[in-house]
Amino acid sequence: MSIKDNILNLIQNLPPQCKLVAVSKTQPVERILEAYHAGQRIFGENKVQELAQKFDALPKDIEWHMIGHLQTNKVKYIAQFVSLIHSVDSLKLLTEINKQALKAGRIISCLLQIHIGSEETKFGFTADEVIHLITTGHIELLTNIQIVGLMGMATFTDDEKKIREEFKTLKEIFDQLKSRTLPHNVNMRELSMGMSNDYKIALQEGSTIIRVGSGIFGERIYH
Ligand SMILES: *Cc1c(COP(=O)(O)O)cnc(C)c1O
Repeated sequence: MSIKDNILNLIQNLPPQCKLVAVSKTQPVERILEAYHAGQRIFGENKVQELAQKFDALPKDIEWHMIGHLQTNKVKYIAQFVSLIHSVDSLKLLTEINKQALKAGRIISCLLQIHIGSEETKFGFTADEVIHLITTGHIELLTNIQIVGLMGMATFTDDEKKIREEFKTLKEIFDQLKSRTLPHNVNMRELSMGMSNDYKIALQEGSTIIRVGSGIFGERIYH
């Protein structure tokens, strides 16, 4: 199926309040434009340099999301334009995003990444760490960031039961935080979970943002 058909299919099956991030990492500008012309406006990248280059090359009504691990020293390259950073995994990173957002005269929206998978390589906070972070009074001082929810990646496995359990855990953490009194710049409204192989499960478990790459563009070719 074409990129356009893939997008239309995904959109058709998406609950009304949910958003689709088209994960365009490794895809050339022409293929991203194909998605753009099918109506897609939210794109996600996992590398700062690639993200900045694509921002320069593509239409300015695109919302760019950073979905990959972000190093503190690279925040400055995306602070002027990034719409949402999904992958915030430390107070240090949050503090740097705040600093660069202030410089750019912006308020940058962020999601806190929660470690739900069983792979060691996946970044993110534990439930306890995130509660600690939100309740220690540090966040209120970061005037130029806004935390709008959580993000997580399930273990890469065919075991659907395991994937579902991990998404359920993330949703529970989300609901738990939502029921607390939160700092003024923390608002639990978005839950970014689900990729090409598991977005259907994620939607059943309460996802509001799915991040789909190969399900739109086909298998990635790494050069
Ligand atoms: C690559 C990537 C995706 C999309 O993966 P697909 O399996 O191609 O849909 C989603 N989220 C993150 C964080 C990614 O790095």
